[in-house]
Amino acid sequence: MADEVREAFQQGDIRAEPGTMVRGMLGGANMPTGERVEIPCIVAHGAHAGPTLVVTAVTHGNEIVGAGAAIQFSRDLDPRALHGTVVIVPIANPPAAAAGAYVSPFDGINMSGPIYWDAPHGASLSHQLGAVIGQVLERADYYVDLHGNFQPCVPMTMMFLESSRDEATRAATIAMGEAVGVTPVDMSAPPAHPAWLGPMDSFPTPTALSRGIPALMVELHGAPTLMDADRGSRCLFNILRSLGMLDDGEAIRPDATRLPGRYGYYGALETKAAGLMWIRHPVGEPFEAGALLLEITDPFGEVLEEIRAPVAGFCWAYFGSHHGSSHIVFSGGTVALMAQRLD
Ligand SMILES: [Zn+2]
Repeated sequence: MADEVREAFQQGDIRAEPGTMVRGMLGGANMPTGERVEIPCIVAHGAHAGPTLVVTAVTHGNEIVGAGAAIQFSRDLDPRALHGTVVIVPIANPPAAAAGAYVSPFDGINMSGPIYWDAPHGASLSHQLGAVIGQVLERADYYVDLHGNFQPCVPMTMMFLESSRDEATRAATIAMGEAVGVTPVDMSAPPAHPAWLGPMDSFPTPTALSRGIPALMVELHGAPTLMDADRGSRCLFNILRSLGMLDDGEAIRPDATRLPGRYGYYGALETKAAGLMWIRHPVGEPFEAGALLLEITDPFGEVLEEIRAPVAGFCWAYFGSHHGSSHIVFSGGTVALMAQRLD
């Protein structure tokens, strides 16, 4: 059956004809010092009709692994074989990325916050950049937000199912989570630590779900490097194929780290003691309730605290202090992110 006549994809100054890939700037904001901050964008406009998948990366500026995944994905993607449109924002927060910082150095705003939709048109640079990206998100039928964790960690994907507008959105997100390749974890209502990560329903991914757009937040490893770019690209190809946007006959490929079974976010594990954090169970490997995960010792090696698994599950990251930059820990610090086995 012949495809319908395809129109060009236009967003700002970017115009892509059917069957082509175009790289350009999506828009941006003026700096007080005269230069301009622009958001890079790659549009693959398929030769064939189909849905629009939007991919963002580096909303957190020190998680550049997502940019690597998005770029590798665009290099390997043939728009002539594509059904629908893929819009990639490889660096959503250029000021934070340039500074190697989690949040924008200009206003301290977390670009994974609620600034893409319903963005107040305030004076902050992050809000202005968020509004530019929001125009693209308005066009999404499906959405993937690429992030990264600091080692030791394993890749996984977050599903904010409780934010789903309806059952269809929820079911489509679960299907994406099954297809993506890495272990999916439902982030809804973590029993142990509901406040940790802040109000997650304001993240762009759950916001998309609340608007009826199936969405995943994919966490790769080696956040400040491009080491995990190939895996991230494979994850995106898995999603394309699961959505029928690329009928090239290639199979969906689960990742080597994928754990069987269903998982939900249990919460963050905390240390009561201050000291050095010793890993006693490998990251990403399942455990039963009661398993010894971490020990905290004093500077002489005396064990001050054993951190054991409260329930069966796995940890996808052992943080230590300062979001993973040190396995010296302070009392009350978050030391691990844990998923609970659901079946
Ligand atoms: Zn992140």
